[in-house]
Amino acid sequence: MLQAIAESSDPVAADRAVRALERDASLRERRRGRSEAAPAPTLPPASRPAPGTPDSPQRVVSDAGKAEKLPGRVVRREGEPATGDAAADEAYDGLGATWELYATAYGRNSLDGRGLPLLASVHYGTDYDNAFWDGTQMVFGDGDGRYFQRFTASLDVIGHELTHGVTELTAGLTYRGQPGALNESISDVFGSLVRQRLLGQRADQADWLIGADLLTDAVHGVALRSLAAPGTAYDDPVLGKDPQPAHMDAFVQTADDNGGVHINSGIPNHAFYLAATAVGGYAWERVGRTWYAVLTGPGISADCDFATFARLTVDAARAQEGESSSLAEAVQSAWEQVGVLQAGSSAAPAPIAPSGQEPTGGEGSPGGEGAPGRGTEVLVRRTGGFAGLTRERSVRLEELPGDDADQWTHLLATRRLSAFSNGPIHPDAYCYEVRCDAPPTRVSMPEPRLPEEVRGLLERTLASGD
Ligand SMILES: [Zn+2]
Repeated sequence: MLQAIAESSDPVAADRAVRALERDASLRERRRGRSEAAPAPTLPPASRPAPGTPDSPQRVVSDAGKAEKLPGRVVRREGEPATGDAAADEAYDGLGATWELYATAYGRNSLDGRGLPLLASVHYGTDYDNAFWDGTQMVFGDGDGRYFQRFTASLDVIGHELTHGVTELTAGLTYRGQPGALNESISDVFGSLVRQRLLGQRADQADWLIGADLLTDAVHGVALRSLAAPGTAYDDPVLGKDPQPAHMDAFVQTADDNGGVHINSGIPNHAFYLAATAVGGYAWERVGRTWYAVLTGPGISADCDFATFARLTVDAARAQEGESSSLAEAVQSAWEQVGVLQAGSSAAPAPIAPSGQEPTGGEGSPGGEGAPGRGTEVLVRRTGGFAGLTRERSVRLEELPGDDADQWTHLLATRRLSAFSNGPIHPDAYCYEVRCDAPPTRVSMPEPRLPEEVRGLLERTLASGD
């Protein structure tokens, strides 16, 4: 079915693609002079489709073969038949469904509005419980089989990852703190809309869940996140409880997960849900268009906080359907209900002070006291990832297999870990933290920076108590 949609040559799609190209060009013009007071974006009138304009996605799915090298071997290109490999075919279909939402609902031809090929790798790593966007492509793990199935199993997860690409190429929201949580929320919102559109669900029919299909039966929960009821998706003896707040009163200040980007996204997620269900109908049409206009419009900047985003959506809804339209009122009311805007105005409450809980980092000075030995205790903490789960283990080196203990001794004695503390942050990649008293060590490391052998050691150490 997905393939049929993707391969249909819809004459309207070509026209919309051209409009997307023109709009992006005009947005770039306007972006040069962007300011807080920039007018809400409006759609330009339709224009002639240009010959040769692509009206279908350009998909390339690769198989990483359980290694952590990208992209791996190409297994399916655009128009090729199904491979018979579930992960590869789900990725292919999911990329198509996501492309369709952006093309047909918003006139956007792929992530960049110019038909950028959609690249995905499946079977990444061994028992890898994650999916992420690395700045050029989507990456999907197979899951551990105990708690998580393959990450392509949920269509909203694929839509989520691709939307990170759209955000990176438009608003460019910083992946930390409030702009990071907005970045996450936008991916959840459009990920859910991809699924709702494919299933033909109105706002009141959708389940508003993220990752429902990738949890195994062993997990006490229905999904990883719920836009309808943040904080209720799971409550499990192993995974813990869904930590998402639905209101600013419960905003979580933390240094984990790039400042809680997968936690506080619950607040803007719930605002979208409230607005969409108040307006009714298909959520991707009216409220979805409002969110899309802000994401790709000139008013948003990389450091946009919740309140600024909220005001931009109210302005966009007014521009879309009128000052006192039901859409504008629903959007305003939704942000009030989650405590981001104050009742009766579009003014924002005072901004929350930035967290002071960042790890101070560093590994002491070389040559200090406390060379690591077999009795040395090391704490490894992993946060973030698509699921936003925290995993932590404290272990004495003598409890680990000899090779791993030796590797730890070497890493700690040479202070090599601090070399990995600064580096690129990819949406949904893991964040690792290592702490040790002797030698004094406290270092945070984003996953993409870590060599495979170091990440392997961290993962084996985390799993050593299982
Ligand atoms: Zn994400």
